[in-house]
Amino acid sequence: MDEKELLLVPGPTPVIGSIQEAISQPTMNHTDPRFVKIFKNAIERTKEFFKTDGEVFLVSGSGTLAMEMALVNTVGRGEKIIIISHGYFGDRFIKLGAAFGIEIDVIQADWGKQVSAAEVEAKLAADTYKAVTITHADTSTGVAANLDELVPVIKKYGALVIVDGVCATAAMEEDMSKTYGDDSYKIDIVLTGSQKAFGVPPGLAIIAFNQSAMKVRKELGQVPAYYADIYNWLPIMEDPSRYFATPPVNLIYGFNHAIELVHKEGLEARYKRHQAYARGIRAAIASYGMMPLAEADVAATTLTCFQYPEGINDAAFRSKLAEKGVVVAGALAHLAGKALRIGHMGNTAEQDLKRAVRLIGESLNELDYQADIEKAIDLFVEHRE
Ligand SMILES: *Cc1c(COP(=O)(O)O)cnc(C)c1O
Repeated sequence: MDEKELLLVPGPTPVIGSIQEAISQPTMNHTDPRFVKIFKNAIERTKEFFKTDGEVFLVSGSGTLAMEMALVNTVGRGEKIIIISHGYFGDRFIKLGAAFGIEIDVIQADWGKQVSAAEVEAKLAADTYKAVTITHADTSTGVAANLDELVPVIKKYGALVIVDGVCATAAMEEDMSKTYGDDSYKIDIVLTGSQKAFGVPPGLAIIAFNQSAMKVRKELGQVPAYYADIYNWLPIMEDPSRYFATPPVNLIYGFNHAIELVHKEGLEARYKRHQAYARGIRAAIASYGMMPLAEADVAATTLTCFQYPEGINDAAFRSKLAEKGVVVAGALAHLAGKALRIGHMGNTAEQDLKRAVRLIGESLNELDYQADIEKAIDLFVEHRE
C-alpha cells in the first residue's frame, strides 16, 4: 500500500497537508501577541461564518462539550426542553439534560426517518418549553433535520432553537442571520466540533450564540458549570490576550487556517460540493447493493449509513477495506453489524471518494460478492455532475 491511509469515518475527517502544517508550527505562549492575533482572527472569522449578532466561543473540548455548553447556559434545572432525535446523537441530549435536572420531552424518529414539524408543533402547543434541540445531521443514521420546516414552528412558540451542527456545520447551511418566515425567527445557537466538516483534528469545541440566547444566559444568573459557563469565556473571546484556561494553541492555528479555506471556497460552493459528493457516493455504493438507510430527500450530505447486502460480514468487510487503506465506520446501536457509515465531508477530495468506491468494490469481490466497479465509478461521476 503506497497510498496514504484514507480516513472516511464521519469524524475525524481527513486533515489536509496545509492544515496539518499549520498545526505543526511551534507552540507559542497563549499570551504571545503573535498567537493572540491568530486567535482573534479565528474568533472574528467564526463570527462572520455563522453570521451571528451575538458571541462565539472556541474552547478546548470535543463536540459533546459544545452540546453541554449550549444546554447549561440556556436551560435551568426544572425547565423543559424538546429533543428532536434522528438517532444516537440526538439521544445524547437526553442524558445531558438529565445530568442537569432539565425536564425532557423526546420526539424520536424511526432510524432512517425524519421527525415532522407537525409532531413538534403538537408538543409545543400542549406545554411550555424553554428550548428545542435539533441534531442537524445525525451521524448514526445519516438523516438530516429540515431546518426550514422546524425553525419557524419552534420560534412561533418562543422556544430557543439549539442546533447540533457537529456533523453539518461548514457543509450544510446554518446561517444565523437567516429569517425563517418572520424577522425574529432565527436559529439561536449552533454548536460543532473541529473534527467534522472543518477538517481539523478533534479537540476544539465551537459554539455560536445569538443575542436572544445571550439574553437567556443572563436571565439564568448562576449556572451549574465552571469550565462550561460561557461567562468565564466571554472576556477571552472579547480579548484573547486574557486568560481563563489555556486555549489549544496548535489546534487554533489549524482551525484558523481551516476557516480561511472555508471562506475562500465560499459557503455556497462548499454546500454544493457536499451535495454533489453525497449524490455520487450514494449512487455508486447503492449499485453494489448497499442501500442508504436514509432516503435522498431526508439525507445529510456529510455522511451516509449504507446497509450491507445479505451475507456480508461487517468485521471481515471493514478489515479487508482497511488493509487496502480505507477506514470506514461501523454502524451504531441496533444497526451494528448490519451497516457501515462513510463520511464524505470537510476537505475530503473527489479522488478520495472514487478511491473508496473502487476499493469497496474490490473488497466485495474478494468476499465473493459480485461488484461492478467500473459501473459504480461511472455512476459516481454521473451523479456528481
Ligand atoms: C460527532 C458528533 C457529536 C459528538 O462529538 P464529539 O466530538 O465526539 O464529542 C455530537 N453530535 C453529532 C451530530 C456528532 O456527529
